[in-house]
Amino acid sequence: MKISEAISMPECHWVKAHLIRYLDRDPSAPLSDQELTRLQSHIAICDKCAAISEEYRETSEALSQLRTHVDQASIARLSESLKKLTLED
Ligand SMILES: [Zn+2]
Repeated sequence: MKISEAISMPECHWVKAHLIRYLDRDPSAPLSDQELTRLQSHIAICDKCAAISEEYRETSEALSQLRTHVDQASIARLSESLKKLTLED
């Protein structure tokens, strides 16, 4: 299989759908080892998903640091943008 075939759109969709659970390490919905491997190996070869993953991680960190200083409305707005990042096509 050529690399260009490995970075197919359906795989990007799958990764984006699971990215929040991966990055938040949601204990109520953990990824299986198989899903973790699939996600990490895709991010390793896909610039687009790697960028989204990095952007989500940075925003998420900034968000948790801001949480104690900023009003709830701003936090809700930021959380919304974060969700859109992983849901839009
Ligand atoms: Zn991708």
